[in-house]
Formats: sequence, structure tokens, C-alpha cells
Amino acid sequence: MSTTSYLSNRINNLSESATLKMTKLGRELAAKGINVISLSVGEPDFNTPDNVKQAAKTALDENYTRYSPVPGYPELRQAIVDKLKNENGLDFETSQIVVSTGAKQSLSNVILTLINPGDEVIIPTPYWVSYSEMVVLAEGKSVFINADIESDFKITPEQLEAAITPKTKLFMFSSPCNPTGSVYSKAELAELAKVFEKHPNIFILSDEIYEHINFIDKHESIAQFNSIKDRVIIVNGFSKAFAMTGWRLGYIAANKEIASANDKLQGQTTSGTCSISQRAGIVAYNEGLAGVQKMKEAFLRRRQLVFDLLNDIPGVKTNLPEGAFYFFPEVSSFFGKKDLNGNVINGSEELALYLLNEGHIATVGGNSFGNDNYIRLSYAASDENLKEALRRMKEALSKLS
Ligand code: PMP
Ligand code: GLU
Repeated sequence: MSTTSYLSNRINNLSESATLKMTKLGRELAAKGINVISLSVGEPDFNTPDNVKQAAKTALDENYTRYSPVPGYPELRQAIVDKLKNENGLDFETSQIVVSTGAKQSLSNVILTLINPGDEVIIPTPYWVSYSEMVVLAEGKSVFINADIESDFKITPEQLEAAITPKTKLFMFSSPCNPTGSVYSKAELAELAKVFEKHPNIFILSDEIYEHINFIDKHESIAQFNSIKDRVIIVNGFSKAFAMTGWRLGYIAANKEIASANDKLQGQTTSGTCSISQRAGIVAYNEGLAGVQKMKEAFLRRRQLVFDLLNDIPGVKTNLPEGAFYFFPEVSSFFGKKDLNGNVINGSEELALYLLNEGHIATVGGNSFGNDNYIRLSYAASDENLKEALRRMKEALSKLS
């Protein structure tokens, strides 16, 4: 992106979100009449469940149209406390919950709340695009720990220990992970928790937005280990489990100081999030997960479909993700090859652009997730579109020489 002298350094130093950029490019191509299949943006291709939509209509009729409390309606905060207890076995009070305009805002709030210029934030790669850029905004320093396909994209306690310095303030990760779909087991989380026990000044930001899209048994949160619980900030939201990406509803569960600091920050920036979305969120949490179950079944079927089709493409290497709805295949064997016009593919971003322009499928280069050897595919698309997208991908890649 170009920099402009009158804009702040803060904004000039910030990269554009690659997930949103590739989605925009895909839409632009589609607007020209080209049939583009989008596997770029990570959002369920399902509709919000009817009971949740109905709750929003009722909220309007009941005139929930005014400013809401900054950290959320008490009933919603209570529904979140109940959910954390019933589903995760975690004890929180309503004063520890702050509802926000999406998990994205919660992540950004937490980073702005904890990070001073120069503080180090440890982020395992691959990570979700916006993590490192939020650290840039807070003038912190990202310290990356590399995990690749051989370790199922998960870090070891030894790697974590080696990355910690006296300046480390925060560790942030997602499990199930965007972009890899990897899920840390309880035993693996326990090992990481043991490292944090030895470093009492480090906070842990646990992004659990894909909690319900998990193909192994139950979700495990790193907040379950009491020795570190007070330093864990859970970020979660309604976008994925309830197909509510447009409603903008997320939250944190954290110790009271961090919660009230997030409340103060929102009070000066955005205020309470949309009143109607919050009323719908209460019903989503109180009336259960039937819709999620149906989505999960579809994702499980599609995961197998895409896994088989990816394995059928020479030069592409993939693992079988245990959660979320992404594949993060290794594609570096195509780097250095030329397209039909003689242009050399120099990395994952160029490969993603080639796939868009030649194959008309939108993906995202792994470079934006911290590892250039991969690309990300979202399989939150119909079976038919997935089959066609993977056929196009195979064909386009076979034209590189
Ligand atoms: N964290 C991760 C890992 C994500 O993939 C996303 C994308 N939606 C978010 C947070 C933000 O979600 P929300 O829609 O609630 O802002
Ligand atoms: N989280 C989704 C993704 O990774 C949504 C897009 C975004 O907010 O970046 O594609």
C-alpha cells in the first residue's frame, strides 16, 4: 500500500487485511461477470438460525433501539457466564465479561489494554492475519514462533520457553486455529500452561472463536488450568458458531481489572455494541447449539472432500485439520515456476493472485498468516463449489512450468 505523508505513522505502518483484500478482489472480478468461487473469506455459508433472527425482530418491536450498557446487557453477560460454566466448566462473574462489536474488536481491545510500546507479544505462526497488525497498532513487537505442517502447525513447550524474554507481556493464539484448523489437546495445553506458571508476568490471549467447529471430542480452553486462569483472556463470539458474521457480536472473559479496562476503552471509542444483535445473542446462547450441529456435519463432510481433492493435486501437501473450516496446504513447489505469459510465481501471494486470475478461485497467500510456503482455503462453501474450485485449482497449477 502507498503511504501518504499526512497520515499517521500508525496507519502508514499498518498492512491491509489480506483476507478482506482477496475477498474484495474476488468480488471485483465477479462484478465483471466472471464466475469466481470464493474460498478466501472465512465465514459460514449458512444463514443465522431462525430463533436468533426472530429474537432480533422481537427486540425491534420491544424498542431495544437505544444505547446499551457499554459492556453489554446484563442478561447477555449472564448468558455468557452460564455458557462458560455449562460448556467449559469455567467460573466467571458477569463483571468479568465485556461484550464487543465482534471478536476482532475484543482482540484489539485486549492488546491496546495490555501492550506498551516495545512490549513483546509471542505469536505462533501461522496466525490469524490481524494479530500481528493489531500489535503494530499498539506499538508492540511481535515475536514469532514457527510451526509448520510437520508439527501439525503446533508449537512445543520448549519453543515457547525459548521465545520468552523479560519484555514478553502477552502470548496470543487460536485453537481451533485460523488459518490451519489445528487444535491443541488438553495435554498439549497443560504443557504450555506449565511454562506460563514459571513466568507470572505473561498474559495469555486465547482466541476460541472456532470452539464449536471442532471435529475431535470437546473443546479445551487453556483457561481451565487454575494456576494461570487469572492471566488468561478468553476471546470468543457469535460469528462462526451461529453464522452471525454480519451481526458483529463478540466478547472477552478475563480478570476484573482487564474487563473493566476494556469497558473503559469501549466507553471512549465505540460504546456498547448493537442493541438488537445483543438481544439475539441472548437467545443464541440460551437456546442451544442445534444449528451448530448441522453446520458441523456439513463441514466434516466437506473437510473429507477437500482433503481428498487436495491430495490429488501433484505438488500440494496437506494435513487433516481437526477444527475450524480451513486448509493450509504447502504449495512452495510451485514457486519459481512460470505462468503462460512467462511471469514467475515468487511466493504465496503471487500464487493466490494467479489462482484468482487464471483459475477464478479466491484464496489467501500464507505470507499474511506468517508463513509464505502455504495458501489458505476456506471450505465454508457448497460441496458443488468446492469440487469445481479444486478442479480449477488443479488445472491452473498444472499450467505452471
Ligand atoms: N479470531 C479469528 C481467529 C477469526 O478467524 C476471526 C474471523 N472472523 C475473528 C477472530 C473475528 O471474528 P468476529 O467476526 O467476531 O470479529
Ligand atoms: N476471520 C475471517 C477470515 O479469516 C473473516 C475475515 C476477516 O475478518 O479477516 O477470513
